[in-house]
Amino acid sequence: MDVAALKHRVVERVDARAGELDRLALAIHAKPELAFEERFAADALVSYLAGEGAEVRRRAGGLDTAFVAEVGAGKPLVAILGEYDALPGVGHACGHNLMGTAAAGAFLALRDVAGELRGRVRVVGCPAEERGNGKVGLIKAGVFADVDAALMYHPGDRDEIDPLMLAMVTLEVEFLGKAAHAAAEPHDGVNALDALLLGWNALSALRLVVRSDSRIHGIITDGGKAANIIPDRAAARLMVRSPDNAYLADLRQRVLACFEGAALATGCELRHEWKDVCEVVRTNRPLAEAFVANAVSLGRTLHTRRPSDTHGSTDMGNVTSLVPGIHPFLSITEGPVPGHSVAFAAAAAEPRALETMHLAAKLLAMTALDVLADPTLARRAREAHAGR
Ligand SMILES: [Zn+2]
Repeated sequence: MDVAALKHRVVERVDARAGELDRLALAIHAKPELAFEERFAADALVSYLAGEGAEVRRRAGGLDTAFVAEVGAGKPLVAILGEYDALPGVGHACGHNLMGTAAAGAFLALRDVAGELRGRVRVVGCPAEERGNGKVGLIKAGVFADVDAALMYHPGDRDEIDPLMLAMVTLEVEFLGKAAHAAAEPHDGVNALDALLLGWNALSALRLVVRSDSRIHGIITDGGKAANIIPDRAAARLMVRSPDNAYLADLRQRVLACFEGAALATGCELRHEWKDVCEVVRTNRPLAEAFVANAVSLGRTLHTRRPSDTHGSTDMGNVTSLVPGIHPFLSITEGPVPGHSVAFAAAAAEPRALETMHLAAKLLAMTALDVLADPTLARRAREAHAGR
């Protein structure tokens, strides 16, 4: 494999498809779909891949909107991942319309040079990043079990190779009380909403004394049915995050205690469920160095994170716990624009975002070529993953 010549060719192949990739990204942007409901986006990506001759397996891992396609044979095996779900109310405010498309562009470029590849590339269409941890379902189905390197980029408002993505767990709480006429016989009721608010206030007090790198936030999903009925049910969904797995385990107990105390105080029954565990993203150093070197060769400099740089959480963390991987951010904006905002959703359809998507497709393909061409890179990535 002449890796320099192949990199040159995959760059040309991404450029050759730029117009089609743009149309795909804009079409997905115009039809935002929530987690597990990304039928239009998955159909559009699968149709495009299949139209270019790829054999695509749909419903990977039993997830309706997941897909997988492969090129090459044997090892090493590089996975290129893409997401395509949106957020309620604000659409593609995380820029995922640019991610599945970049992954498809990178995969097809590599497929164009398939005759000269040693090893395999797998593109993985990953549903439900914003809620529900689609990648965990794919992990359980074994989609990443034999992978040597997992590569994904994320649109952002700065170029950052090793973002701090926090460990996170979702908590569903439900208080059950007793309904009664709120004016005639309030003494016959047990107020589930008051129990929830009591727990919420305890949580607000807790927030003042937790580590500043940790986060607790949520919404009330049920606050009762009518103002003249004592609510017999109230519910909330919370997210608890920390960069430290041990501290997160401690926080979980303290958060739950807020609601247990409220249940005791009000006489309500408390039910709860912990779910959707995201792990911290582990940036694999040898893979990150390859990605950064490729970016530099195309005129883009990626920075390492500063202590003040914060992001959310992602199920890509679970993938990088399992196998060597990277999750760099590439800026699609001129200056700082907060993620999950209306402004970021608008930016995700701008020419600058599309140009960055082309760059991302090139860098993913080039870094995949590095892994396929250099057996020592896969070995070093594995060793770094094992902490050696
Ligand atoms: Zn995202």
